[in-house]
Amino acid sequence: MTSDKKIVVIGAGISGLTTAYLLFKEGYDVIALEQNDKVGGSIETVSAEGFLFDRGPNSGLETTPLIQQLVKDLNLEDQFVYANREGNKRYILRDEHLHALPMSPPAFFKTKLFSNKAKLRLFAEPFIGRSKDGYYQSIAEFVNRRLGKEFLDYAINPFVAGVYAGRPEELSVKSAFPKLYALEEDYGGLIIGSIRSIRKRKKSKEVSKQSAKMFSFKDGMKILPESMAEKLGSRISTNAEVTSIRKTGDGSFGVTYRDGKQNITLLADVILSTVPAYKAAELFSQLDDDLVKHLNQIYYPPVLVLYLVYEKNVVGQPLDGFGFLIPEKEQKSFLGAIWSSVIFPNRSDDTKAAFTLFIGGSRDAGFVDDVEQLVIDRARREFEIIMKISAEPVLTAKRFWPKAIPQYNLGYVEHENFFDHFEKDNKGIVLSGNYRGGISIGDCIKNSELVAQKIKNLL
Ligand SMILES: Cc1cc2nc3c(=O)[nH]c(=O)nc-3n(C[C@H](O)[C@H](O)[C@H](O)COP(=O)(O)OP(=O)(O)OC[C@H]3O[C@@H](n4cnc5c(N)ncnc54)[C@H](O)[C@@H]3O)c2cc1C
Repeated sequence: MTSDKKIVVIGAGISGLTTAYLLFKEGYDVIALEQNDKVGGSIETVSAEGFLFDRGPNSGLETTPLIQQLVKDLNLEDQFVYANREGNKRYILRDEHLHALPMSPPAFFKTKLFSNKAKLRLFAEPFIGRSKDGYYQSIAEFVNRRLGKEFLDYAINPFVAGVYAGRPEELSVKSAFPKLYALEEDYGGLIIGSIRSIRKRKKSKEVSKQSAKMFSFKDGMKILPESMAEKLGSRISTNAEVTSIRKTGDGSFGVTYRDGKQNITLLADVILSTVPAYKAAELFSQLDDDLVKHLNQIYYPPVLVLYLVYEKNVVGQPLDGFGFLIPEKEQKSFLGAIWSSVIFPNRSDDTKAAFTLFIGGSRDAGFVDDVEQLVIDRARREFEIIMKISAEPVLTAKRFWPKAIPQYNLGYVEHENFFDHFEKDNKGIVLSGNYRGGISIGDCIKNSELVAQKIKNLL
Protein backbone atom coordinates (compact mmCIF):
# COMPACT_ATOMS: atom_id res chain seq x y z
CA MET A 1 0.00 0.00 0.00
CA THR A 2 1.37 3.43 -0.89
CA SER A 3 0.69 6.66 1.00
CA ASP A 4 -0.26 10.19 -0.02
CA LYS A 5 2.41 11.63 2.27
CA LYS A 6 5.19 13.64 0.67
CA ILE A 7 8.83 12.51 0.69
CA VAL A 8 11.51 15.07 -0.14
CA VAL A 9 14.90 13.67 -1.14
CA ILE A 10 17.81 16.11 -0.89
CA GLY A 11 20.67 15.39 -3.29
CA ALA A 12 20.60 13.48 -6.58
CA GLY A 13 23.79 11.45 -6.42
CA ILE A 14 23.47 7.69 -6.76
CA SER A 15 22.11 7.35 -3.18
CA GLY A 16 19.34 9.94 -3.52
CA LEU A 17 18.38 8.94 -7.04
CA THR A 18 18.16 5.21 -6.34
CA THR A 19 15.97 5.68 -3.26
CA ALA A 20 13.79 8.27 -5.01
CA TYR A 21 13.43 6.01 -8.03
CA LEU A 22 12.50 2.90 -5.97
CA LEU A 23 9.84 4.85 -4.05
CA PHE A 24 8.53 6.57 -7.19
CA LYS A 25 8.20 3.19 -8.91
CA GLU A 26 5.94 2.01 -6.11
CA GLY A 27 3.72 5.07 -6.43
CA TYR A 28 4.95 7.15 -3.49
CA ASP A 29 4.77 10.96 -3.67
CA VAL A 30 8.46 11.76 -3.90
CA ILE A 31 10.34 14.91 -4.97
CA ALA A 32 14.14 15.06 -5.35
CA LEU A 33 16.05 18.34 -5.12
CA GLU A 34 19.57 18.72 -6.52
CA GLN A 35 21.70 21.82 -6.20
CA ASN A 36 23.72 21.30 -9.39
CA ASP A 37 22.47 21.68 -12.95
CA LYS A 38 23.05 17.95 -13.47
CA VAL A 39 22.41 14.75 -11.51
CA GLY A 40 24.91 12.09 -10.43
CA GLY A 41 26.89 13.83 -7.66
CA SER A 42 30.35 12.20 -7.66
CA ILE A 43 29.44 10.37 -10.86
CA GLU A 44 30.54 12.56 -13.75
CA THR A 45 31.42 11.57 -17.32
CA VAL A 46 32.70 13.87 -20.03
CA SER A 47 33.27 12.75 -23.59
CA ALA A 48 34.33 14.35 -26.85
CA GLU A 49 35.93 13.29 -30.13
CA GLY A 50 36.14 9.60 -29.29
CA PHE A 51 37.48 10.04 -25.75
CA LEU A 52 35.62 9.36 -22.53
CA PHE A 53 36.73 10.53 -19.10
CA ASP A 54 34.90 9.33 -15.99
CA ARG A 55 35.88 12.12 -13.61
CA GLY A 56 34.62 10.31 -10.47
CA PRO A 57 33.99 6.55 -10.25
CA ASN A 58 35.18 4.58 -13.29
CA SER A 59 33.21 1.44 -12.47
CA GLY A 60 31.09 -0.33 -9.88
CA LEU A 61 31.06 -3.82 -8.44
CA GLU A 62 27.94 -5.88 -8.96
CA THR A 63 27.46 -6.81 -5.31
CA THR A 64 23.66 -6.75 -5.31
CA PRO A 65 21.00 -8.15 -7.67
CA LEU A 66 19.36 -4.70 -7.53
CA ILE A 67 21.92 -3.45 -10.06
CA GLN A 68 20.67 -5.87 -12.73
CA GLN A 69 17.11 -5.04 -11.81
CA LEU A 70 17.80 -1.32 -12.34
CA VAL A 71 19.53 -2.01 -15.67
CA LYS A 72 16.44 -3.92 -16.82
CA ASP A 73 13.92 -1.37 -15.52
CA LEU A 74 15.81 1.48 -17.15
CA ASN A 75 16.29 -0.37 -20.47
CA LEU A 76 20.06 -0.13 -20.17
CA GLU A 77 20.90 -3.65 -21.35
CA ASP A 78 22.65 -2.28 -24.47
CA GLN A 79 24.65 0.20 -22.44
CA PHE A 80 25.69 -2.07 -19.56
CA VAL A 81 29.20 -3.56 -19.85
CA TYR A 82 31.31 -5.81 -17.70
CA ALA A 83 35.04 -5.16 -17.54
CA ASN A 84 37.14 -7.18 -20.03
CA ARG A 85 38.90 -10.25 -18.73
CA GLU A 86 42.05 -8.11 -18.42
CA GLY A 87 40.22 -6.25 -15.63
CA ASN A 88 41.00 -9.15 -13.27
CA LYS A 89 44.72 -8.57 -13.48
CA ARG A 90 45.94 -5.85 -11.12
CA TYR A 91 49.45 -4.65 -10.57
CA ILE A 92 51.25 -3.29 -7.52
CA LEU A 93 54.40 -1.20 -7.77
CA ARG A 94 57.39 -2.42 -5.82
CA ASP A 95 61.00 -1.32 -6.36
CA GLU A 96 60.04 0.52 -9.58
CA HIS A 97 58.49 -2.62 -11.12
CA LEU A 98 54.87 -3.58 -11.64
CA HIS A 99 54.07 -6.95 -10.08
CA ALA A 100 50.82 -8.74 -10.90
CA LEU A 101 48.79 -9.30 -7.75
CA PRO A 102 48.78 -13.12 -7.38
CA MET A 103 45.29 -14.60 -7.85
CA SER A 104 46.05 -18.29 -7.25
CA PRO A 105 48.18 -20.28 -4.80
CA PRO A 106 50.89 -21.12 -7.45
CA ALA A 107 51.05 -17.45 -8.51
CA PHE A 108 51.34 -16.46 -4.87
CA PHE A 109 54.35 -18.72 -4.32
CA LYS A 110 56.01 -17.45 -7.51
CA THR A 111 55.45 -13.70 -7.10
CA LYS A 112 58.29 -11.32 -6.26
CA LEU A 113 55.78 -8.86 -4.77
CA PHE A 114 56.22 -10.50 -1.35
CA SER A 115 59.39 -11.91 0.23
CA ASN A 116 59.53 -15.59 1.22
CA LYS A 117 59.34 -14.52 4.84
CA ALA A 118 56.07 -12.65 4.18
CA LYS A 119 54.66 -15.66 2.32
CA LEU A 120 55.49 -18.02 5.19
CA ARG A 121 53.97 -15.57 7.65
CA LEU A 122 50.54 -16.10 6.05
CA PHE A 123 50.53 -19.70 7.27
CA ALA A 124 50.33 -18.43 10.84
CA GLU A 125 47.07 -16.58 10.16
CA PRO A 126 44.63 -19.39 11.10
CA PHE A 127 46.30 -19.71 14.49
CA ILE A 128 45.95 -16.06 15.51
CA GLY A 129 43.12 -15.41 17.94
CA ARG A 130 40.33 -12.86 17.74
CA SER A 131 40.95 -9.22 18.58
CA LYS A 132 38.93 -7.10 20.99
CA ASP A 133 37.22 -4.09 19.47
CA GLY A 134 37.24 -3.58 15.72
CA TYR A 135 35.66 -0.16 15.91
CA TYR A 136 38.72 1.23 17.64
CA GLN A 137 41.18 -0.93 15.76
CA SER A 138 42.67 0.36 12.54
CA ILE A 139 42.83 -1.78 9.43
CA ALA A 140 46.64 -1.46 9.77
CA GLU A 141 46.67 -2.97 13.28
CA PHE A 142 44.28 -5.71 12.21
CA VAL A 143 46.24 -6.75 9.13
CA ASN A 144 49.62 -6.39 10.78
CA ARG A 145 48.50 -8.75 13.55
CA ARG A 146 46.81 -11.30 11.31
CA LEU A 147 48.96 -11.24 8.15
CA GLY A 148 52.18 -9.39 8.95
CA LYS A 149 53.75 -6.03 8.13
CA GLU A 150 54.81 -6.75 4.59
CA PHE A 151 51.32 -7.80 3.57
CA LEU A 152 50.03 -4.60 5.14
CA ASP A 153 52.56 -2.47 3.25
CA TYR A 154 52.33 -4.13 -0.16
CA ALA A 155 48.73 -5.39 -0.38
CA ILE A 156 46.47 -3.56 2.06
CA ASN A 157 48.05 -0.10 2.00
CA PRO A 158 47.67 0.28 -1.78
CA PHE A 159 44.24 -1.40 -1.73
CA VAL A 160 42.95 1.07 0.86
CA ALA A 161 44.30 3.94 -1.23
CA GLY A 162 42.47 2.50 -4.26
CA VAL A 163 39.12 2.19 -2.50
CA TYR A 164 38.96 5.08 0.00
CA ALA A 165 41.91 7.23 -1.09
CA GLY A 166 42.63 6.50 2.57
CA ARG A 167 45.35 5.27 4.97
CA PRO A 168 45.08 1.93 6.81
CA GLU A 169 46.44 3.54 10.00
CA GLU A 170 43.42 5.84 10.18
CA LEU A 171 40.48 3.74 8.97
CA SER A 172 38.50 1.65 11.45
CA VAL A 173 38.58 -2.00 10.36
CA LYS A 174 35.02 -2.65 11.55
CA SER A 175 33.43 0.48 10.06
CA ALA A 176 35.41 0.66 6.81
CA PHE A 177 35.75 -3.10 6.11
CA PRO A 178 32.93 -4.72 8.10
CA LYS A 179 32.92 -7.93 6.03
CA LEU A 180 36.65 -8.43 6.52
CA TYR A 181 36.33 -7.92 10.26
CA ALA A 182 33.33 -10.26 10.36
CA LEU A 183 35.51 -13.10 9.02
CA GLU A 184 37.55 -12.89 12.21
CA GLU A 185 34.58 -12.20 14.48
CA ASP A 186 32.35 -14.96 13.05
CA TYR A 187 34.84 -17.62 11.99
CA GLY A 188 38.01 -16.83 13.95
CA GLY A 189 40.23 -16.03 10.94
CA LEU A 190 40.41 -14.66 7.41
CA ILE A 191 41.40 -17.81 5.54
CA ILE A 192 38.92 -20.12 7.23
CA GLY A 193 36.27 -17.38 7.17
CA SER A 194 36.67 -16.75 3.44
CA ILE A 195 36.07 -20.43 2.70
CA ARG A 196 33.07 -20.83 5.01
CA SER A 197 31.35 -17.54 4.13
CA ILE A 198 31.16 -18.47 0.43
CA ARG A 199 28.51 -21.08 1.28
CA LYS A 200 26.51 -18.58 3.34
CA ARG A 201 26.54 -15.93 0.61
CA LYS A 202 25.38 -18.37 -2.05
CA LYS A 203 22.15 -18.76 -0.09
CA SER A 204 21.55 -14.98 0.25
CA LYS A 205 22.38 -14.18 -3.43
CA GLU A 206 24.77 -11.48 -2.21
CA VAL A 207 28.15 -11.37 -3.92
CA SER A 208 31.39 -10.58 -2.09
CA LYS A 209 33.47 -7.66 -3.33
CA GLN A 210 36.31 -10.08 -4.23
CA SER A 211 34.13 -12.14 -6.56
CA ALA A 212 31.70 -9.44 -7.77
CA LYS A 213 31.93 -8.49 -11.44
CA MET A 214 33.07 -5.00 -12.34
CA PHE A 215 30.68 -3.04 -14.53
CA SER A 216 30.24 0.29 -16.26
CA PHE A 217 28.29 1.66 -19.23
CA LYS A 218 29.40 2.14 -22.83
CA ASP A 219 28.87 5.88 -22.53
CA GLY A 220 30.32 6.11 -19.03
CA MET A 221 29.04 5.91 -15.46
CA LYS A 222 26.77 8.94 -15.82
CA ILE A 223 24.31 6.83 -17.84
CA LEU A 224 22.93 5.24 -14.66
CA PRO A 225 22.01 8.47 -12.78
CA GLU A 226 20.83 10.19 -15.95
CA SER A 227 18.50 7.30 -16.79
CA MET A 228 17.00 7.30 -13.30
CA ALA A 229 16.48 11.06 -13.49
CA GLU A 230 14.75 10.64 -16.85
CA LYS A 231 12.28 8.19 -15.31
CA LEU A 232 11.69 10.52 -12.36
CA GLY A 233 10.85 13.31 -14.84
CA SER A 234 9.15 16.26 -13.15
CA ARG A 235 9.69 14.57 -9.77
CA ILE A 236 13.28 15.82 -9.80
CA SER A 237 14.46 19.44 -9.83
CA THR A 238 18.02 20.44 -10.61
CA ASN A 239 19.42 23.91 -9.79
CA ALA A 240 17.49 23.51 -6.55
CA GLU A 241 19.81 24.05 -3.60
CA VAL A 242 18.20 23.25 -0.27
CA THR A 243 19.11 26.00 2.18
CA SER A 244 17.16 25.17 5.33
CA ILE A 245 15.02 22.58 7.05
CA ARG A 246 12.69 23.34 9.94
CA LYS A 247 10.08 21.46 11.93
CA THR A 248 6.54 22.81 11.46
CA GLY A 249 5.13 21.70 14.80
CA ASP A 250 2.57 19.24 13.41
CA GLY A 251 5.12 16.50 12.71
CA SER A 252 5.99 17.61 9.21
CA PHE A 253 8.91 19.66 7.88
CA GLY A 254 9.46 22.79 5.84
CA VAL A 255 12.23 22.33 3.24
CA THR A 256 13.34 25.57 1.65
CA TYR A 257 15.32 25.59 -1.58
CA ARG A 258 16.61 28.23 -3.93
CA ASP A 259 15.25 28.02 -7.45
CA GLY A 260 17.09 30.67 -9.44
CA LYS A 261 16.40 33.89 -7.59
CA GLN A 262 13.40 32.81 -5.54
CA ASN A 263 13.08 30.67 -2.42
CA ILE A 264 10.49 27.91 -2.42
CA THR A 265 9.33 26.00 0.65
CA LEU A 266 7.92 22.48 0.35
CA LEU A 267 6.08 20.68 3.12
CA ALA A 268 7.37 17.17 3.67
CA ASP A 269 6.31 14.25 5.84
CA VAL A 270 9.67 12.57 5.37
CA ILE A 271 13.00 14.18 4.53
CA LEU A 272 15.77 12.02 3.13
CA SER A 273 19.14 13.76 3.21
CA THR A 274 21.72 12.20 0.87
CA VAL A 275 24.11 15.16 0.69
CA PRO A 276 27.71 14.80 1.97
CA ALA A 277 28.08 15.00 5.78
CA TYR A 278 29.62 18.50 5.77
CA LYS A 279 26.65 19.74 3.67
CA ALA A 280 24.12 18.00 5.91
CA ALA A 281 25.76 19.81 8.87
CA GLU A 282 24.73 23.12 7.25
CA LEU A 283 21.19 21.95 6.49
CA PHE A 284 20.46 20.65 9.98
CA SER A 285 22.22 23.50 11.83
CA GLN A 286 18.94 24.78 13.27
CA LEU A 287 17.78 21.36 14.44
CA ASP A 288 20.50 19.69 16.50
CA ASP A 289 23.95 20.92 17.58
CA ASP A 290 25.22 17.42 18.38
CA LEU A 291 24.25 16.15 14.94
CA VAL A 292 26.14 19.04 13.37
CA LYS A 293 29.21 18.18 15.48
CA HIS A 294 29.18 14.54 14.39
CA LEU A 295 28.65 15.40 10.72
CA ASN A 296 31.44 17.97 10.72
CA GLN A 297 33.92 15.51 12.23
CA ILE A 298 33.80 13.24 9.17
CA TYR A 299 36.93 13.79 7.13
CA TYR A 300 36.86 13.99 3.32
CA PRO A 301 40.39 14.22 1.84
CA PRO A 302 41.05 15.98 -1.47
CA VAL A 303 41.70 13.98 -4.66
CA LEU A 304 42.87 15.15 -8.06
CA VAL A 305 41.86 12.87 -10.93
CA LEU A 306 44.11 13.10 -13.95
CA TYR A 307 43.21 11.73 -17.37
CA LEU A 308 46.06 11.06 -19.78
CA VAL A 309 45.82 9.74 -23.34
CA TYR A 310 48.83 8.54 -25.36
CA GLU A 311 49.37 6.98 -28.74
CA LYS A 312 49.26 3.26 -27.96
CA ASN A 313 52.55 2.57 -29.72
CA VAL A 314 54.56 4.78 -27.32
CA VAL A 315 53.51 2.72 -24.26
CA GLY A 316 56.19 0.09 -23.50
CA GLN A 317 54.34 -1.62 -20.63
CA PRO A 318 52.03 -4.44 -21.84
CA LEU A 319 48.45 -3.25 -21.42
CA ASP A 320 46.93 -6.41 -19.99
CA GLY A 321 45.30 -5.37 -16.74
CA PHE A 322 43.05 -3.09 -14.74
CA GLY A 323 45.93 -0.82 -13.78
CA PHE A 324 48.21 -0.49 -10.79
CA LEU A 325 48.29 0.76 -7.22
CA ILE A 326 51.24 2.25 -5.40
CA PRO A 327 52.15 1.37 -1.79
CA GLU A 328 52.94 4.43 0.36
CA LYS A 329 56.43 3.01 0.97
CA GLU A 330 57.29 3.51 -2.69
CA GLN A 331 57.06 7.28 -2.15
CA LYS A 332 55.43 8.33 -5.39
CA SER A 333 53.31 11.40 -5.88
CA PHE A 334 50.16 9.60 -7.00
CA LEU A 335 48.11 6.69 -5.64
CA GLY A 336 47.71 4.59 -8.75
CA ALA A 337 46.34 4.47 -12.27
CA ILE A 338 43.45 2.77 -14.02
CA TRP A 339 44.10 1.64 -17.58
CA SER A 340 40.69 2.89 -18.62
CA SER A 341 40.76 2.02 -22.32
CA VAL A 342 41.95 -1.53 -21.60
CA ILE A 343 39.00 -2.55 -19.45
CA PHE A 344 36.00 -0.81 -21.01
CA PRO A 345 35.08 -0.03 -24.64
CA ASN A 346 34.69 3.51 -26.02
CA ARG A 347 37.23 5.11 -23.68
CA SER A 348 39.47 6.09 -26.62
CA ASP A 349 39.95 5.11 -30.25
CA ASP A 350 41.91 1.93 -31.00
CA THR A 351 45.20 3.68 -31.71
CA LYS A 352 45.28 5.39 -28.28
CA ALA A 353 45.56 4.32 -24.66
CA ALA A 354 43.65 6.26 -21.98
CA PHE A 355 44.64 6.26 -18.30
CA THR A 356 43.10 7.71 -15.13
CA LEU A 357 45.47 8.63 -12.30
CA PHE A 358 44.55 9.53 -8.72
CA ILE A 359 46.57 12.03 -6.70
CA GLY A 360 46.27 12.96 -3.00
CA GLY A 361 43.82 11.28 -0.65
CA SER A 362 44.58 11.08 3.10
CA ARG A 363 48.09 9.87 2.24
CA ASP A 364 49.02 13.12 0.58
CA ALA A 365 46.32 15.69 1.35
CA GLY A 366 49.03 18.39 1.47
CA PHE A 367 49.32 18.36 -2.33
CA VAL A 368 46.68 21.08 -2.41
CA ASP A 369 49.29 23.55 -1.08
CA ASP A 370 51.52 23.01 -4.13
CA VAL A 371 51.04 24.63 -7.51
CA GLU A 372 48.60 22.36 -9.34
CA GLN A 373 50.59 22.22 -12.57
CA LEU A 374 53.69 21.07 -10.66
CA VAL A 375 51.66 18.34 -8.94
CA ILE A 376 50.36 17.16 -12.32
CA ASP A 377 53.77 17.28 -14.02
CA ARG A 378 55.39 15.31 -11.19
CA ALA A 379 52.76 12.55 -11.29
CA ARG A 380 52.87 12.45 -15.07
CA ARG A 381 56.65 12.06 -15.18
CA GLU A 382 56.59 9.22 -12.63
CA PHE A 383 53.73 7.54 -14.48
CA GLU A 384 55.57 7.70 -17.80
CA ILE A 385 58.65 6.05 -16.30
CA ILE A 386 56.61 3.24 -14.70
CA MET A 387 54.68 2.66 -17.94
CA LYS A 388 57.79 2.98 -20.18
CA ILE A 389 56.14 5.76 -22.17
CA SER A 390 58.39 7.54 -24.64
CA ALA A 391 56.28 10.53 -25.79
CA GLU A 392 54.01 13.30 -24.54
CA PRO A 393 50.29 12.67 -24.00
CA VAL A 394 48.00 13.64 -26.86
CA LEU A 395 45.28 14.66 -24.43
CA THR A 396 45.20 15.68 -20.76
CA ALA A 397 42.20 16.46 -18.57
CA LYS A 398 41.64 16.72 -14.83
CA ARG A 399 39.02 17.00 -12.12
CA PHE A 400 39.80 18.25 -8.62
CA TRP A 401 37.59 16.97 -5.79
CA PRO A 402 38.32 19.17 -2.73
CA LYS A 403 36.32 16.77 -0.50
CA ALA A 404 36.31 13.43 -2.27
CA ILE A 405 35.41 10.42 -0.13
CA PRO A 406 34.34 10.16 3.56
CA GLN A 407 36.86 8.32 5.73
CA TYR A 408 35.38 5.78 8.14
CA ASN A 409 38.13 6.52 10.64
CA LEU A 410 38.79 5.07 14.10
CA GLY A 411 35.80 5.59 16.39
CA TYR A 412 33.43 6.09 13.42
CA VAL A 413 30.95 3.90 15.32
CA GLU A 414 30.19 6.89 17.54
CA HIS A 415 28.90 8.77 14.50
CA GLU A 416 27.02 5.69 13.29
CA ASN A 417 25.34 5.22 16.69
CA PHE A 418 24.51 8.90 16.94
CA PHE A 419 22.84 8.91 13.51
CA ASP A 420 20.72 5.89 14.55
CA HIS A 421 19.61 7.68 17.73
CA PHE A 422 18.98 10.94 15.90
CA GLU A 423 16.62 9.22 13.46
CA LYS A 424 14.72 7.57 16.34
CA ASP A 425 14.34 10.93 18.14
CA ASN A 426 13.43 12.84 14.97
CA LYS A 427 10.87 10.67 13.23
CA GLY A 428 10.58 11.70 9.61
CA ILE A 429 14.25 12.60 9.06
CA VAL A 430 16.42 9.96 7.39
CA LEU A 431 20.15 10.39 6.89
CA SER A 432 21.76 8.57 3.99
CA GLY A 433 24.58 8.94 1.47
CA ASN A 434 28.02 7.43 1.26
CA TYR A 435 29.02 8.36 4.83
CA ARG A 436 26.60 5.63 6.04
CA GLY A 437 26.74 2.00 4.96
CA GLY A 438 29.67 2.10 2.55
CA ILE A 439 31.24 4.38 -0.03
CA SER A 440 31.21 2.20 -3.15
CA ILE A 441 28.58 2.56 -5.85
CA GLY A 442 27.42 -1.00 -5.09
CA ASP A 443 27.06 -0.23 -1.37
CA CYS A 444 25.23 3.06 -2.08
CA ILE A 445 22.75 1.19 -4.31
CA LYS A 446 22.30 -1.65 -1.83
CA ASN A 447 21.84 0.83 0.98
CA SER A 448 19.26 2.81 -1.00
CA GLU A 449 16.99 -0.22 -1.02
CA LEU A 450 17.22 -0.46 2.78
CA VAL A 451 16.60 3.28 3.09
CA ALA A 452 13.52 3.07 0.83
CA GLN A 453 12.18 0.34 3.14
CA LYS A 454 12.96 2.46 6.21
CA ILE A 455 10.95 5.34 4.70
CA LYS A 456 8.01 3.09 3.84
CA ASN A 457 7.96 1.92 7.46
CA LEU A 458 7.74 5.55 8.59
CA LEU A 459 4.67 6.38 6.49
C1 LIG B 1 37.19 10.61 -7.49
C2 LIG B 1 36.29 9.51 -7.03
C3 LIG B 1 36.45 8.24 -7.53
C4 LIG B 1 35.61 7.21 -7.10
N1 LIG B 1 35.76 5.97 -7.67
C5 LIG B 1 34.86 4.98 -7.35
C6 LIG B 1 34.86 3.75 -8.08
O1 LIG B 1 35.63 3.55 -9.03
N2 LIG B 1 33.96 2.79 -7.71
C7 LIG B 1 33.05 2.99 -6.71
O2 LIG B 1 32.27 2.08 -6.41
N3 LIG B 1 33.01 4.17 -6.03
C8 LIG B 1 33.87 5.16 -6.32
N4 LIG B 1 33.81 6.38 -5.69
C9 LIG B 1 32.83 6.56 -4.61
C10 LIG B 1 31.42 6.81 -5.12
O3 LIG B 1 31.46 7.44 -6.37
C11 LIG B 1 30.64 7.69 -4.16
O4 LIG B 1 30.74 7.22 -2.84
C12 LIG B 1 29.15 7.76 -4.53
O5 LIG B 1 28.99 8.13 -5.88
C13 LIG B 1 28.47 8.76 -3.60
O6 LIG B 1 27.11 8.91 -3.94
P1 LIG B 1 26.11 9.70 -2.99
O7 LIG B 1 24.83 9.82 -3.72
O8 LIG B 1 26.07 9.07 -1.65
O9 LIG B 1 26.77 11.15 -2.77
P2 LIG B 1 27.12 12.26 -3.84
O10 LIG B 1 27.52 11.66 -5.12
O11 LIG B 1 28.08 13.18 -3.15
O12 LIG B 1 25.73 13.03 -4.06
C14 LIG B 1 25.25 14.02 -3.21
C15 LIG B 1 24.46 15.03 -4.03
O13 LIG B 1 23.92 16.01 -3.15
C16 LIG B 1 23.95 17.27 -3.82
N5 LIG B 1 23.83 18.33 -2.82
C17 LIG B 1 24.75 18.76 -1.92
N6 LIG B 1 24.25 19.76 -1.16
C18 LIG B 1 22.99 19.98 -1.60
C19 LIG B 1 21.96 20.88 -1.22
N7 LIG B 1 22.13 21.76 -0.23
N8 LIG B 1 20.78 20.86 -1.89
C20 LIG B 1 20.57 19.96 -2.91
N9 LIG B 1 21.51 19.09 -3.30
C21 LIG B 1 22.70 19.08 -2.65
C22 LIG B 1 25.29 17.24 -4.53
O14 LIG B 1 25.35 18.21 -5.55
C23 LIG B 1 25.30 15.81 -5.05
O15 LIG B 1 24.73 15.71 -6.32
C24 LIG B 1 34.61 7.46 -6.12
C25 LIG B 1 34.44 8.75 -5.60
C26 LIG B 1 35.25 9.78 -6.07
C27 LIG B 1 35.04 11.17 -5.55
